[in-house]
Amino acid sequence: MNYRHAYHAGNFADVVKHAVLSRLVEHLKQKDKAFRAIDTHAGIGRYDLASVEAGKTGEWQGGIGRVSEPRTAALLQPYLEAVRLENPDGGLRRYPGSPLIVRHLLRKQDRLTAIELHSEDAARLKAVFAGDIQTRVIELDGWLALGAHLPPKEKRGLVLVDPPFEEEGEFQRLVENLRRAHRRWPGGIYALWYPIKDRKAVAAFRAALKETGIPKLLDIGFEIRPASSEPSLDGSGLVVVNPPFTLEAELRLMLPALHGVLAVEQPSRWTIEWLAGE
Ligand code: SAM
Repeated sequence: MNYRHAYHAGNFADVVKHAVLSRLVEHLKQKDKAFRAIDTHAGIGRYDLASVEAGKTGEWQGGIGRVSEPRTAALLQPYLEAVRLENPDGGLRRYPGSPLIVRHLLRKQDRLTAIELHSEDAARLKAVFAGDIQTRVIELDGWLALGAHLPPKEKRGLVLVDPPFEEEGEFQRLVENLRRAHRRWPGGIYALWYPIKDRKAVAAFRAALKETGIPKLLDIGFEIRPASSEPSLDGSGLVVVNPPFTLEAELRLMLPALHGVLAVEQPSRWTIEWLAGE
């Protein structure tokens, strides 16, 4: 496990993922009934944008560094509020990872389970949430959690699956594990992140998802430049299973606003496609 999210925190892919994640949490809050969010590959929770790691790539400057300007859509407010809460003195020094964004948005009755396999990262994540009775941090293989932790006792909620994609076969693993998780908990909302780097692999992933027979699969693609000649992160995607009925319309407002500030080269595009309907 060599992947360290500290090099990438707050980049364009984080922004899109976290903006959509925030909409899913906001949707769950429309009913009083408690829910649980499960983050299977949680990272360290809080990132220092002035760190050596963040400075080495500068990726956040092409991501959250561009979005914190005021001209973005109102639908981004919950996400941007979570970022602001991490920067109480103004400016942009700290960036919240997915578990911390979710945590900032939870109500008193809601719960978060954050899972991280890398032991140093899990220890840092535990420190971030020390004393927080609404959050449980577990050092565990997130793929295993997709079995053992589903369905949560609240029977409402969402699961974010955000693997590092550093190993061969990660797309296939995502499909297999979704199939398994969905059998255990067909009513959960799932958000699966994937890189748009190798277009053939992405096409095969989308086709494999269609073949699962799982209904209500919404695929979001966000490309910031045309396909590069050398493998590089030209875009990112998120497949949402059981999306709230309002999500597609929200995305049609949010994605163009985000694309306007995050795209680096044209032609590039954002896409929304139903891989499977009802
Ligand atoms: N979800 C985080 C966010 O949006 O802020 C970023 C997560 S990062 C892309 C992937 C994380 O998964 C890394 O912190 C890595 O250590 C962790 N990881 C790798 N393999 C794992 C596994 N099998 N189970 C749980 N975590 C794993």
